[in-house]
Amino acid sequence: MSVFGVYGVSNPAQVIYFGLHGLQHRGQEGAGIATFDQDGKCYHHRGIGLAGEVFPQERMAQFGGNLGIGSTQYANAEKGGLDNVQPLFFHHKSGDFAIAGEGNLVNAPQIANYLEDLGSILQTDTDAELLANLIKKDGTEDRIHRLMDALTMMEGGFAFVILTKNRIYAVRDKYGIHPLAIGRLSDGWVVSSETCAFELVGADYVRDVEPGEIVSLDSHGIRSNRYSQFQKHKVCAMEYIYIARPDSNIDGCNVHKYREEVGRRLAIEAPADADIVVGVPDSGLSAAMGYAQQSGIPYEMGLVKNRYIARTFIQPSQVMREKSVQLKLSAVRSIVEGKRLVMVDDSIVRGTTSLKIVKLLRAAGAKEVHVRIASPMMKYPCYYGVDTPTTEELLCSTRTLEEACKMIEADSLGYASCENSRAATGGCSELCLACFNGEYPTALYEHGKDE
Ligand code: SF4
Repeated sequence: MSVFGVYGVSNPAQVIYFGLHGLQHRGQEGAGIATFDQDGKCYHHRGIGLAGEVFPQERMAQFGGNLGIGSTQYANAEKGGLDNVQPLFFHHKSGDFAIAGEGNLVNAPQIANYLEDLGSILQTDTDAELLANLIKKDGTEDRIHRLMDALTMMEGGFAFVILTKNRIYAVRDKYGIHPLAIGRLSDGWVVSSETCAFELVGADYVRDVEPGEIVSLDSHGIRSNRYSQFQKHKVCAMEYIYIARPDSNIDGCNVHKYREEVGRRLAIEAPADADIVVGVPDSGLSAAMGYAQQSGIPYEMGLVKNRYIARTFIQPSQVMREKSVQLKLSAVRSIVEGKRLVMVDDSIVRGTTSLKIVKLLRAAGAKEVHVRIASPMMKYPCYYGVDTPTTEELLCSTRTLEEACKMIEADSLGYASCENSRAATGGCSELCLACFNGEYPTALYEHGKDE
């Protein structure tokens, strides 16, 4: 999922549209945009599909004003469907507003119960709707204090953008699990899940929203409030490892540079006797370059990605899904044939993809395939909105390194350590590594009991 917002720009919907294109890798199931015009009228449109499919140009012409927010959504079995595509729009006597969020609250059921006891009737499975109801549950305080009170009740990893007719609020959870950055666009402001979207709209990076901070963007410029004195930096390691684009910076650390550094350290932690290093596109490429630099083994493009496979073509049947790796990736026979390879990938979740890629490389003539993974062994599920499977489905939750190696039919298998993952940020960020080491930064509520 991703969020994007603009304040003080002409044609905000067009800017958001481009911003969402830059964030499309974070979610392809749905997209939405909400803006207010000068008369306080809200324009709101959302749909299932890619941003380019959801917003035809004739629709874009209807949006007005100088501020707005947008979002892309990824497919999730529990929270799918148009109802959950954000921004959500709310009517209220104190003023209409819209919210888009990413991440996941670990105490969502408790908050939903609390609100239902107060009389709320919830219509979606989104944390954005919970936040809207918490903000409006009583009207006794001014808006910023109601927002601060609402956020104090929320536990988990989240980033929200909230749109009113004259202001945008940008919020990051008090652990800073999900990234959120602020940029300058002419005389206006931009806020985005990832800095790569700034380039696309011509904005300059200003700073990241701090953990536990509410940033207000309006005619007074940029203002900051803290909703929690508790503050910890625990950025999701998977943002660096897999989710974010390599041209994004998170808390000042470039994602490509991070992956490359992990690859260098991985070559020391898990060396291999091989002829060439091959990266798995896309998120394994930077780490493969680092591995090659450190080891002195030449980097070669032994796998190429077919970028033009339509999602509908890959997804309609189980048979086609099984075929998806072969459809998405091709091994380059002239490069891999007869060679001993180091195959570098970002992570292993279930292991099914790794097995298919190893088979693909062997079928193209690779003599040996030594798999090196630029993250630690994934053993635990994520409760903060990153779509990882249950413990039982994870390849490494109960298996040893040797057993995992056998499952993916590799000649050898090696992982980056948690220490490597931490050190590669160069001190820019402290990381949440909970899906690797089980050390969750927040309380887990019901999730903890399930474990
Ligand atoms: S548990 Fe893993 S995927 Fe979830 S926020 Fe932490 S590092 Fe990211």
